Amino acid sequence: MKDCIFCKIANGEIPSATLYEDEKFRVILDLGPATRGHALILPKAHYENLYELPDELAGEAMVLGKKVITEMKKILNCDGYNVVQNNGEAAGQTVFHFHMHLIPRMDGDKAGISWTPGTLTPEDKEEILSKFSLK
Ligand code: 5GP
Ligand code: ZN
Repeated sequence: MKDCIFCKIANGEIPSATLYEDEKFRVILDLGPATRGHALILPKAHYENLYELPDELAGEAMVLGKKVITEMKKILNCDGYNVVQNNGEAAGQTVFHFHMHLIPRMDGDKAGISWTPGTLTPEDKEEILSKFSLK
């Protein structure tokens, strides 16, 4: 897609620190990393978010993510990993070309990928369970 920075990066029009590339994906180091080794998986084709991503690519992105973090873990010797994927501005998405964040974690790091737990109320539970129907 014209004017999409991740289309340009994924397809090599803009140079990037590329960890891996195949015909469908490019894996790059994030320019504003949450932690050392923070990587992004970008499909080469433009899909705005996970809702639009075809099932097959969604599956392949996750399998690729598993391979990348397995290799990166050996190099960094990190203690944990966050796999994060934001959809929509409200969820923190800033680049509207699907991408998956792979964020290495060290014990005691200050990456702050967390939330304050709320409470599952009986009302919410009842309403959501009664409305939710996966076909
Ligand atoms: P989002 O907030 O959309 O989930 O994540 C966008 C990510 O893309 C951010 O972590 C940001 O640092 C990264 N980013 C934005 N522009 C560029 C760029 O030009 N190159 C690279 N490597 N990362 C970028
Ligand atoms: Zn794009």
